[in-house]
Amino acid sequence: MADAKGVLVIGEQSGGQLDMTAKELLAHGRKVAASLNEPLSIALLGDDLGALPKEAIAFGADRVFAVTDPILKDAQPEAYLAALAKLAKDQSPKVILLAKTPLGSHIGPRLAFRLDSALAQDCLEVKVDGGKLVGSRPVFGGNCMASVACNGLPMMAVIRAKTIDPLERSNSRSGEVVQVKPNLDPSVVKAKVVKRVEEKQEGKRLEDAEVIVSGGRGVGGAEPFQKELKELADLLGGGVSSSRAAVDIGWVPYSYQVGLTGKSVAPRVYIAVGISGASQHMAGLSGAKNIVAINKDANANIFKEARFGVVGEWQKVVPALIQAIRELK
Ligand SMILES: Cc1cc2nc3c(=O)[nH]c(=O)nc-3n(C[C@H](O)[C@H](O)[C@H](O)COP(=O)(O)OP(=O)(O)OC[C@H]3O[C@@H](n4cnc5c(N)ncnc54)[C@H](O)[C@@H]3O)c2cc1C
Repeated sequence: MADAKGVLVIGEQSGGQLDMTAKELLAHGRKVAASLNEPLSIALLGDDLGALPKEAIAFGADRVFAVTDPILKDAQPEAYLAALAKLAKDQSPKVILLAKTPLGSHIGPRLAFRLDSALAQDCLEVKVDGGKLVGSRPVFGGNCMASVACNGLPMMAVIRAKTIDPLERSNSRSGEVVQVKPNLDPSVVKAKVVKRVEEKQEGKRLEDAEVIVSGGRGVGGAEPFQKELKELADLLGGGVSSSRAAVDIGWVPYSYQVGLTGKSVAPRVYIAVGISGASQHMAGLSGAKNIVAINKDANANIFKEARFGVVGEWQKVVPALIQAIRELK
């Protein structure tokens, strides 16, 4: 890839809509492309992309690779991987950016391997320094930040959601749409989707929520997640999450878990109820703008990280908060 050029972001889509992560990647990509003084492209994959290429241009892409094939319909990692490896070899981008989604995390390392390059995982920010892509990523449970420089080409990074605001949508932006037919061999897909079971979404998707009410071991059981915490989250138009302790005990499913081995979230307000604030939990919160802690132990670690805190039994504090919000409304 000696004549590598440009920045390529891998855009995800679902139900005919460009994912928020794709718009955010375009904003990250735009900064990198400006530093390199090179164009910004996005790869969109599917069996029929409809108006998505135009939408990607409105959010900042100079060029859209519209990669279509019937076997790309189900966002199968193997099919995506085969199509993206071919595209990257044909186009030789200097930089490839992926989102830290299940699909992005899955295909990022495999794509780097196929391109004989390296990848900076779990970045909050990327920049160009001395011609190299440098990613900042939390390490040691979020207690330190590491700067990871990419050697080789393409320079690749996986970036967390909600680490940048998308560019403002503008229909006046112009760009080029390149139709790509990868003619994938169906044998690349090793697993078949036999059935889709949608997990019931309680309230807002955590990744998109502006407010999250989160419960830990201190809430004492499964019921408060469905009652008081949900009521508070609903009142604030937010979602409900948890610590790993609450998942391990079986009070809530894994999809609720925030932290090192759970989701990374970036709400404006994160209300931690009966959560001690272990570093592994806080690792999922580096993007949270304001943490509000409710804990009966004044020495709990969460108070060191919280902007606002209430020392007390949640059974008294949460209903009082609900009442106060109702009155304000
Ligand atoms: C490799 C690894 C990965 C991990 N990944 C994660 C992860 O992704 N996410 C995660 O969360 N954890 C993770 N953990 C676990 C983590 O170390 C903690 O054990 C966990 O976060 C603790 O959960 P907690 O705060 O709910 O429980 P606890 O630490 O038991 O804290 C409960 C808190 O509730 C308070 N409390 C009790 N009763 C009340 C009451 N009535 N009112 C108000 N407050 C009350 C207590 O004072 C206490 O501070 C990981 C651990 C390891 C080793």
